[in-house]
Amino acid sequence: MRLGPKAGAGAIARQKIAIGGVVQGVGFRPFVYNLARRHGLTGMVANTPAGVEIEVQGAPEVLAAFALALRDEAPPQAEIFTLTSSPLASAPEADFQIHHSQLIGPATTMIAPDLSLCRECLREMLDPADRRYLYPFINCTNCGPRYSIVTAIPYDRPATAMRHFVMCADCRREYEDPGDRRFHAQPVACSVCGPKVSLLEALGKEIAVAQAAISGGVELLRGGKILAIKGLAGFQLAVAADNEAAVTRLRQRKSREEKPFAVMVADLAAARELGFLAEEDEALLVSPSAPIVLVPSRPGNGLARAVAPDSGQVGVMLAYTPLHHLLLREFGGALVMTSGNLSEEPICITNPEALARLAGIADGFLLHDRDIYVRGDDSVVMRMAGRARILRRSRGYVPRPMLVAPDGPSVLAVGGELKNAICLLQGERAFLGQHLGDLKSLPAYDFFRENIAHLLKIFAAEPQLVVHDLHPAYLSTRWARESQELPTLAVQHHHAHLAAVLAEHRAVGPAIGIILDGTGYGWDQTIWGGEILIGDYRQCRRLGSFEPLPLPGGDAAIKAPWRTGLGYLHAAFAGQLPELAFLRDRPVGPVVEMLERQLNCPKSSSCGRLFDAVAALCGLRSEITYEAQAAIALMEAAGGRLGEPYNWEFYAEGPIFRLALRPMIRQIAEEVGAGVAPAQVSQRLHGTLVAMLAGAAERARVASGLNLVILSGGVFNNYLLFEGLLAALSRRGFEVLSPEQLPFGDGGIAMGQSLIGRQYLLDQVAV
Ligand SMILES: [Zn+2]
Ligand SMILES: [Zn+2]
Repeated sequence: MRLGPKAGAGAIARQKIAIGGVVQGVGFRPFVYNLARRHGLTGMVANTPAGVEIEVQGAPEVLAAFALALRDEAPPQAEIFTLTSSPLASAPEADFQIHHSQLIGPATTMIAPDLSLCRECLREMLDPADRRYLYPFINCTNCGPRYSIVTAIPYDRPATAMRHFVMCADCRREYEDPGDRRFHAQPVACSVCGPKVSLLEALGKEIAVAQAAISGGVELLRGGKILAIKGLAGFQLAVAADNEAAVTRLRQRKSREEKPFAVMVADLAAARELGFLAEEDEALLVSPSAPIVLVPSRPGNGLARAVAPDSGQVGVMLAYTPLHHLLLREFGGALVMTSGNLSEEPICITNPEALARLAGIADGFLLHDRDIYVRGDDSVVMRMAGRARILRRSRGYVPRPMLVAPDGPSVLAVGGELKNAICLLQGERAFLGQHLGDLKSLPAYDFFRENIAHLLKIFAAEPQLVVHDLHPAYLSTRWARESQELPTLAVQHHHAHLAAVLAEHRAVGPAIGIILDGTGYGWDQTIWGGEILIGDYRQCRRLGSFEPLPLPGGDAAIKAPWRTGLGYLHAAFAGQLPELAFLRDRPVGPVVEMLERQLNCPKSSSCGRLFDAVAALCGLRSEITYEAQAAIALMEAAGGRLGEPYNWEFYAEGPIFRLALRPMIRQIAEEVGAGVAPAQVSQRLHGTLVAMLAGAAERARVASGLNLVILSGGVFNNYLLFEGLLAALSRRGFEVLSPEQLPFGDGGIAMGQSLIGRQYLLDQVAV
């Protein structure tokens, strides 16, 4: 019988250590293996559906040191949430081994998000002496595809898209060598055994493979053509970012008129030429999540105007897959890189889907044969008030869970309608799914259903409740009510926003919520969106709101801010309309008649609509082609400055107070009539909102005794308003919480819904 290396040196103990968290697909088992060997311990490590299980044997003081190092030296992408250890009887053994994954047990482990190409792999890929020289699918335990190629957990090769590729002898040696940095890297591959790239012309005929395919793709891009590229978690459409005609053609073919495009470059040096990057922006760009980072645009950066018309910001990302790196190195400039889809539809992931749906958009297809199973758009991050804020949460972040609450029943929340994302609350963790888009498009609705099925499957979840928005017509609401045998719960939209931020910060509330967005269905069945609430996970009360004003034509007003502007003017001037330029050549008469007869003119307390109305009044934007376009134009006009507030006041209406808007609208109309520039109007509008909302928070504090304020809702993507209000509230001694990991907009509400749902279940049990 052979004993462990420390046998005879004193007492031998054996411990079982169970670790939960993001510990699969991040090089955790090789790390444990090497750590155990370094400490001279014997035993084993294995993946389980719940995470990683370790058995270690050796001297007690060495075991203690090992346990400490497990946390301190864990691989950069690992996140340990739970670590429990228990004693075992010592066993005869000679070494430390990695065992096959155990497939039995509750599935609670976390799959890592997809990870951008690491430095070592980049270096190898560019080294002519390396056997993976210029191989576009190089990866290791620290980088490469993860969530997008997984069909089940534990995360092992047979449960990924790599199951179709049989490792060659060289790859297998690396995969099995604990000293190798590709030890148990599931997507390991090389040009002999792994995925291959090919170039197809627009009609789908293959015209090149391997290196020639990449060069052929670069030729297309240089010629101003649109290239569809199979990326990490979905297809992308690329075009030369300095080619005005090419970018314009992409806009036309994709039916995306003006919404800014993001740009991809090879490295930080190139990114610095496009925009003004702070140190934190650079850290985000090179992080394994590799998001699009919104930064102030550098004048004269050489980008075509059509990339981001009229915008002072540019969305930049770095090449994050080996294929991107090869393409950009050969191309030598910046590429517009946008989701491979038509307008607001979900991103394509399979080759046949791309060839069908992107036909008519792409002039060529750079494909490969590694399947993508889970769709993910590029994530978008912006720094506001000194912190990185995830505005669109998808590739690189999903499915990293957020630790939000103590244990409790599992809940599925299905979010809103625009910018839908779903959330699964499982134990202490909330898995906020990726951005799914506007469910009103059928492909997005299919994506929504596919996403729910996938999330429930890979986490083996059995939710006890499905939570949906209060809006009866949302497709997510209908899905919850019609297709489920589970009990359902409706949650008011802005209450969900408030609860989501509490959850992200592991706070319990109650808190004052200042929730500003475009549209959310209220308890009184009207459209809300400028709300002062008091709430926690259990309940919510509306303390105040923006004054509700008419939207002539309802939804039609959302696409046509001039209608909202006219509605607000009509209310502010009691029908005695001033003559303003933006109403010239508009069918004012019929709309005024609608307003006077109150036909299809729902009233809304939406802050998004206030921005629309003022942008129209100033003559900045009468019609829009994408969500929040008028609000963005108005914000940009202010040039980052707050102005002297207009008159503002509160008035009581029934049990709540209203933030009066008509006095401000009257002043703005007078100023615009007198020729005051939009810049000044915008500065004063922002100044007014900051003063008025800080005043509303004071009023809520007096009424409730609470000092905690939550700021959320899509309107706060406006950094001037957000930073201004945050500063004003801090000056008044408020404690303020706002989203960081969650989007400000509706992409975050499912998390709030899920926590409210769990509270509801717990309260039912308690009764
Ligand atoms: Zn790597
Ligand atoms: Zn190989």
